[in-house]
Amino acid sequence: MSQKVVAVYPGSFDPITNGHLDLVERGSKLFGELIVAVLRNSGKNPLFSVEERVEMMREATRPWANVKVDSFDGLLVDYAAQKKAKVILRGLRAVSDFENEMQMALMNRKLDGNLEIVFMMPGVAYTYLSSRLVREVVQLGGNVRGLVPPLVSKRLHAKLDGDRVKSTASPSTRTR
Ligand code: ADP
Repeated sequence: MSQKVVAVYPGSFDPITNGHLDLVERGSKLFGELIVAVLRNSGKNPLFSVEERVEMMREATRPWANVKVDSFDGLLVDYAAQKKAKVILRGLRAVSDFENEMQMALMNRKLDGNLEIVFMMPGVAYTYLSSRLVREVVQLGGNVRGLVPPLVSKRLHAKLDGDRVKSTASPSTRTR
């Protein structure tokens, strides 16, 4: 097949971690074009707006010329068709990811039989890493250096440090 294969890597990316970027790097080597697609209609009450997540992802993926960043809502299969993508890229960190990913993959394949869902494993250093954990660690005052790009760490602190100050400013902690 001589045609360029376009792949879509969809997700919430709230926020991007170095695990996501590990996958982007691997995908960029495998596919002619990789579109990182930030999910818009997430009912997850996200920390960062879609615009913020797209902007951070653009900055973080600058090193890879064949990687584009976009946002989407609605059915992933419709978005993929619109982009002429033949592949959906997803990450598998551990067995715990498998069940949910398999359900989604089979449903997407049922909706569009021409799509292939490709799973890649990140480097072992990222197998425990999730956006949710990163948010929680920063919220509780921990250090996420090396786990997210520096720009993301800065934005996380800007958003969450204020919350922590508020929640720890009880009379007992103020007097310490
Ligand atoms: P979603 O809410 O769609 O799961 P995420 O942003 O959590 O969105 O993840 C997007 C994709 O990236 C998923 O396929 C997920 O399994 C994968 N992923 C998340 N974290 C990592 C990681 N540390 N290493 C590899 N893949 C990851």
